[in-house]
Amino acid sequence: MKADSQTPNSSSRHYDPASMPVGLYLDGRWQAAVGKKTVAVTDPSTEAEIARVPDAGLEDADAAVNAAASAAPAWAAMAPRKRAEILRRCFELMTERAEDLAWLISLENGKALRDARGEVAYAAEFFRWNAEEAVRVQGDFFTAPSGTNRIIVDHQPIGICVLITPWNFPAAMATRKIGPALAAGCTVILKPATETPLTAYALAALYEEAGVPPGVVNVLTTTTPGPVVARMLADPRVRKLSFTGSTGVGRLLLAEAAKTVISSSMELGGNAPLIVFDDADIDLAIEGTMVAKMRNAGQACTAANRIYVHSSVYETFTRKLTERMSALAVGPGTAPETECGPMITANAVVKIERLVENALQAGAKLLCGGKKPSGKGFYYPPTVLSDVPLMAQLNCEEIFGPVAALSRFESEDEVIAKANDTEYGLAAYIFTRDAARGFRVARQLESGMIALNRGLVSDPAAPFGGVKQSGLGREGGTHGIYEFLESKYIATSTI
Ligand code: NAD
Repeated sequence: MKADSQTPNSSSRHYDPASMPVGLYLDGRWQAAVGKKTVAVTDPSTEAEIARVPDAGLEDADAAVNAAASAAPAWAAMAPRKRAEILRRCFELMTERAEDLAWLISLENGKALRDARGEVAYAAEFFRWNAEEAVRVQGDFFTAPSGTNRIIVDHQPIGICVLITPWNFPAAMATRKIGPALAAGCTVILKPATETPLTAYALAALYEEAGVPPGVVNVLTTTTPGPVVARMLADPRVRKLSFTGSTGVGRLLLAEAAKTVISSSMELGGNAPLIVFDDADIDLAIEGTMVAKMRNAGQACTAANRIYVHSSVYETFTRKLTERMSALAVGPGTAPETECGPMITANAVVKIERLVENALQAGAKLLCGGKKPSGKGFYYPPTVLSDVPLMAQLNCEEIFGPVAALSRFESEDEVIAKANDTEYGLAAYIFTRDAARGFRVARQLESGMIALNRGLVSDPAAPFGGVKQSGLGREGGTHGIYEFLESKYIATSTI
């Protein structure tokens, strides 16, 4: 059922697309693209244009690198404590403006306000966490085993960083990179997704208010990311590429980065298995599955893509999940009662329709949803597919939508083999009351992150990232800052 689609009054908000700055943010100045081109930002709930942002070209890419380069020496030389205080202020301002930022995210991304509020809290935490990390970077000093010299290991800012982010978490995917990069003493150029640039621009203004000097964070939107990013990576002053997005684009960017041998961190796609064992607390498993499947209406890299349920609890689990999924309120992200917002684009809906149709043709049963509503907005209803056969395409592709794909299993070995039968390895979920089984299975699953008896795995204090073709490197936790630091080893016999 659709929730009320009233348009919230934006005039009293801090971030109103009609009045907030949306130029390229380079060297602390808001400016048009050199070619004067712009691109529309669309509200996925209504398909209406809500703003236009600059469409940067190659000259703008050069200007961005120049800005980051001129700000780099002073930022790297700033006392870590001072950098930490600026980052802490970013956290405080984001927290003060949380409600307005959440509304802006909901507007341009379509996600339900409750999900957007969660994203803002998560995103802001990368500044608090990295404010604390900025002053805790420690090196090594020890005697070489030969006894002839001392070994000193220092950590230095890696240099100018190009950061590329997707539309599904427009605030958090950016702050998960900007927080540690700035803490490490690096300057950055952020290229947000063209679908959701407003959050990136709103945050750029907020960083400036918090005391981030001009040129330390630069933001550039473009409809030609291939050539624009290639131009920046070809500049020898750029030393880091940090990308979050699909595995396909990640592969292209790794090839591009290889040309100048640039350090690359890759947070890529997922195909998370969610396993419910016969001894699971079924109500807890249902709660966890709703979170793992339905956060952002299923548009998350960690979303449960394949749900394996032991045959002895399959009927009960399926019935309860179908009840919960069909009761969700579908509507515009900004309507307070909405639980499942629209998809990001019309193409995203077409992809989901294709995957559901394919699964049904392969023999899956449709228990609810499955039919795109008529009218404006990129909606797809919460859908449950039962008895999804192995051959269905959605077992090997990210659904990225509100479709729960269920199938049965009999044994632990069987479900581990099925879960690992994918090129991806980002997140996996296990529900069992048997702790020994939980850890045994967790060790055997080929995933960078495991959620045991819960539906949420992301935590700014933990290392986020994937194995196999889900990525390279980790973001968050104590690991995150080291992606933006280079080790320098000094051998000396003088001390
Ligand atoms: P995408 O790969 O299409 O785009 C991601 C970003 O890359 C966007 O900013 C886009 O403009 C840019 N881009 C596209 N082509 C490019 C090119 N040739 N050169 C340089 N940049 C280019 O992904 P998306 O549709 O925006 O996001 C969804 C994908 O992101 C899913 O696969 C999801 O699993 C993944 N994701 C991963 C994580 C993670 O942490 N592992 C988090 C969120 C999303």
